[in-house]
Parts: sequence; structure tokens; C-alpha cells
Amino acid sequence: MTAVATYLDHNAGAPIRPAAVEAMVAALAIGGNPSSVHRAGRLARRVIEEARDSVAALCGAESSEVIFTSGGTEANNLALLGAVRGGLAARLLVSGIEHDSVRAAAAGASVPVTVLPVDSEGLIDLAALDRLLSAGEGPALVSVMLANNETGVIQPVAEVARVARGHGALVHSDAVQALGKTALDFPALDVDMMSVSAHKIGGPAGVGALVKRAGIDLVPLSLGGGQEYGRRPGTENLAGIAGFGAAAKAAATRRDLAPLRDRLERELLAALPGARVFGAGAPRVDNTSCIGLAGVRAETQVVALDLAGVSIGAGAACSSGKVRPSPVLTAMGESEETARSAIRVSLGWNSEAADVDRFLSAYIEFAGRALKARAVRGEKETHHG
Ligand code: PLP
Repeated sequence: MTAVATYLDHNAGAPIRPAAVEAMVAALAIGGNPSSVHRAGRLARRVIEEARDSVAALCGAESSEVIFTSGGTEANNLALLGAVRGGLAARLLVSGIEHDSVRAAAAGASVPVTVLPVDSEGLIDLAALDRLLSAGEGPALVSVMLANNETGVIQPVAEVARVARGHGALVHSDAVQALGKTALDFPALDVDMMSVSAHKIGGPAGVGALVKRAGIDLVPLSLGGGQEYGRRPGTENLAGIAGFGAAAKAAATRRDLAPLRDRLERELLAALPGARVFGAGAPRVDNTSCIGLAGVRAETQVVALDLAGVSIGAGAACSSGKVRPSPVLTAMGESEETARSAIRVSLGWNSEAADVDRFLSAYIEFAGRALKARAVRGEKETHHG
């Protein structure tokens, strides 16, 4: 299969960066086990530790705080389940717009879970957090994502941490969609744990990390050897980690995508006054647009754009191909119907002005047709009704 002409679905998975491929091929050629003391083992160990340094630098963290995992999903599970199993948390408070991997991990943690509300822009309600933390008993862990995968809205995580600290609660933030898109400063965020993933920044899928403050004594999810500071047993995914490191290094010189994204939204809204951009009134990462076209199903929009050679995402998370109304938008108070009409356009490291042009011309042409067809249908229904 050849690469698609215009790929604007970086939040689902970014195309792999050439530097990551190169690092992975080199790592595969080493072939040793990083725990071995011989030369191949030492070489492999060096690759891992260099990657750890690069990932830590992109997170503004210490290398010793980075635990490699199989991705963002595992990092989120390790944070929540590891804290509960380690006796660090007897209740969980998670925002209503978290990724499935946080929601499902919380639901499976066998402790009380409180869902934190967000406002119509998708921002967490800090007063409600304060109130809900007061209302419960026992040590709490608060999990609030840094940037939302569908809208790009950035949460005031440092403020969340300030409120949580007032109640002695631990804080985790899923920063999978923030890594490489906004400057991360782990100590300044003041969270205890933060999840990141390689394939959103041009690294390979299947590798990520939990960045964890020293002294947070998590119980590992699986049992085995002492790899990754005893928190993630199993021989390390050497090639994956090498690819993550190379992608992190490349992502350190961040591209400002705001001008491209802002033009996309400006021109789209000018051509289609009925369209909406969700979360536009809140701080957002500069690569993401969540767009609603009332009455036109997201999957119809995605398929039409695909036929025009443009890949975008359905705002409704479609982790297994199934499309359901976006829980993020319904948590923001939108109707199910509106949530079913949301698409996500997400730019990334290789996006260019020409990609935005191709998207705009394909989308505006399609939307014009779809809206006209809808109007004709409506007229017929009026006559017949
Ligand atoms: N968290 C967020 C916000 C995401 O967008 C994703 C990926 O879609 C994940 C976690 C899961 O990461 P991974 O695919 O590496 O398991």
C-alpha cells in the first residue's frame, strides 16, 4: 500500500519519522539483551539509556523518572492500577473526557471512581474537583489528561495538582496528546505521574512511558524480572525504545503548527458558516481541530474525505473501527446527535500548507453537497409530512 496523499490524523498515529526507522533498524542489528553483561548487551543497554535521556528531556523530567512501557495504554493502567494495588489510592477521580485506557483502568481498579465534570469548552471544573475530593474518604488519585485527543483542549493540570495537593491526593496526567505539541515540564506540572506514547510523535506504535516521581511506589502490572526499575518486568523492546528516543529527539525542535491549523479553521468557517469548532474558546495544542457539521454523520465525512485522498479522524473515537458518539463532546454538554457529527483534523511533523489546501477544497466541496442533499430531503419530508 502506498502512503496516502494527505494524512491529517496524527492524533490517531503519526507517520513514522525517518530518524526513528533508522534508529530501530540499527537497534535490531545489535540484537542483544540489555540485561546481559557482554558487549552486545552493553550496546543494547546504551541504546535504551540514550533513548531514556531523549524521552526524559522532551518531558522535562529526569531520566531516572522514565519507565518504558508498551504504550500510553499500559502507562495509564500502570499509573492507576499500580497506585491502587500499592495502597497509594483507595479512590480515583478521573475527568469525564479521559481516553478509554484511563476510564477502563479506573473502572477495573475495584475502588470507588468519581467522574469529574468539564464545562462546555471541555475544561475541568476545579471547584467541583475540590468539592468531590472533600466529599470522599481515604487516599485519592486524581487523573486528568493534559491535552484531549479529540479537541486538543489543554487542561490546567498544574492547578489540578494544586487543588489535589490540598487534599493530600496523588495526581496522574495522561500527556499522550501533549508530548511534542507543547513544552512539557514535569516538575512544573507538579504531578506524580504522567503517561506518554511514541506513535503520536512519529515513533513506532507499541512503546510508551510512564514518567513517575521518585518515591511513588507502584505495584507492577505483571510479575517477573527487575527491568525498568522493577516497575515493568520483561526484556525491553529495544527497537521500539530506540525509535521512541529518536522521535523524541526530533520532536524536541517543535514545529509551530498554529498558523496552519488557524488558517484551516478560518477558511472552513468562512465557507461553511454552519460548521463549528469544538473547544475553540479554550487553550489548545496547536495541531488539532475538532469540527462539527450538524446533521452529517462523522463516518460519512471520513469516508468522503478518504475517497478524495485525505485521511482524517472521526471525533468519535474509533478504537476498533466502531464509531460511537464522542463521549468527550457529550461530556462537554453537546447532544448525541452533535457528537455524532464531529470529525478530527490533526496535523503533525510532516504537515504542510498544501495538505491544508487539499483538505479544505475536498471538505468544502463535500460539505456543500451533503448540506444540499440534506436540505432537499428536509423539503421532501415537509411536503410529504
Ligand atoms: N491516551 C490518549 C490521550 C491517547 O490519545 C491514546 C491513543 O490514542 C492513548 C492514551 C493510548 O496510547 P497507546 O496507543 O500508545 O496505547
